[in-house]
Amino acid sequence: MSNPGLVLVLNSGSSSIKYQLVDPEAGTAVVSGLVEQIGEADGPVADHAAGLRLLHQRLTESGVDLVTVRAVGHRVVHGGSRFFVPTLITDAVVAEVERLAELAPLHNPANVIGIEVARADFPNVPHVAVFDTGFFHSLPPAAAHYAINHDVATEYGIRRYGFHGTSHEYVSRETAAVLGREPAELNTIVLHLGNGASASAVRGGKAVETSMGMTPLEGLVMGTRSGDIDPGVLFHLYRTAGLGVEQLDELLNRRSGLKGLSGINDFRELLERRAAGGASGEAAGLAYDVYIHRLRKYVGAYLAVLGRVDAIAFTAGVGENVPDVREDALAGLDGLGIIVDPQRNRSGKGARVISADASRTTVLVVPTNEELAIARAAWEFV
Ligand code: ADP
Repeated sequence: MSNPGLVLVLNSGSSSIKYQLVDPEAGTAVVSGLVEQIGEADGPVADHAAGLRLLHQRLTESGVDLVTVRAVGHRVVHGGSRFFVPTLITDAVVAEVERLAELAPLHNPANVIGIEVARADFPNVPHVAVFDTGFFHSLPPAAAHYAINHDVATEYGIRRYGFHGTSHEYVSRETAAVLGREPAELNTIVLHLGNGASASAVRGGKAVETSMGMTPLEGLVMGTRSGDIDPGVLFHLYRTAGLGVEQLDELLNRRSGLKGLSGINDFRELLERRAAGGASGEAAGLAYDVYIHRLRKYVGAYLAVLGRVDAIAFTAGVGENVPDVREDALAGLDGLGIIVDPQRNRSGKGARVISADASRTTVLVVPTNEELAIARAAWEFV
């Protein structure tokens, strides 16, 4: 099978490399997979370089001729104020991304390691960084600023950057495509509900609001993250429980959200537990209710931000697969012109409309595909 060219898309975490080999013109994934437990005692590989060699070997074994890899696209979490469009990676770019680790200490260092080993492994093709914050570069100042001391904010780079941008951009464009409209004509609310979760308001193709902030911790209730919380809670826990910064970080990022409320962060399991009833079913039910309530608040806020909303698109693991969430999040909003059709909501596959014909705002399910978006961005440089 001859191929005009493929793009290898890499998402390097601290202990994993997610990869997908994409045919950017056909819009299909040729191979995808995950190298996990990098550097762990019983993991398959000692470091990211070995992880990439394993990936290399797997690709070859699956029959891919690696000379067809014409570009490598890297997901990079934080572009700060410096990077927002897909950027051809040079030594200088790597150094800058490394400096931005200050803003994303959990993510950017792993992204940099992934970039370094992949550049050594695929030295003769362009490597392109696609930033998770990029799409939110267009946030208007009123949405990007926190109301804290201006000098402190300036000195420490404190502002709202937003994350999941590749997904929000992709889904808002796909939404326009499904509706047969141009992105420039539409006002859209995108609800990306996965393990991490975020909402965005997109006006005419540009993001004007998003729920994640300086870090991915702000906003919606997530699998293990609290989302919005009174910052006073942190002072209180510091003073009364003696929790230090690492413990507070761990509490809000890893032991909160659905998991904190119910012990379960996986949504499928949460639904099963809730349906089973009993004491743990009650905890799961409360977690579900808190999750839905927060989501409704954001939808309401973004209706007000946008004024006119043409489309609301649900995406990612929960958004694409859990009809109850879509129905409950938008229930009772007929007065605002939002009517989910129960039958449409519970049937069909792929990108589709789930609102009633009488609904002024069209509600959709639009599967996200960050890898394809990254592959297409990288392909531009070939
Ligand atoms: P990530 O943020 O890791 O990319 P995903 O977008 O894959 O996450 O979403 C993962 C979440 O979606 C998990 O909580 C998972 O339980 C949930 N999910 C995926 N498929 C289903 C399904 N069919 N029913 C219920 N929940 C699902």
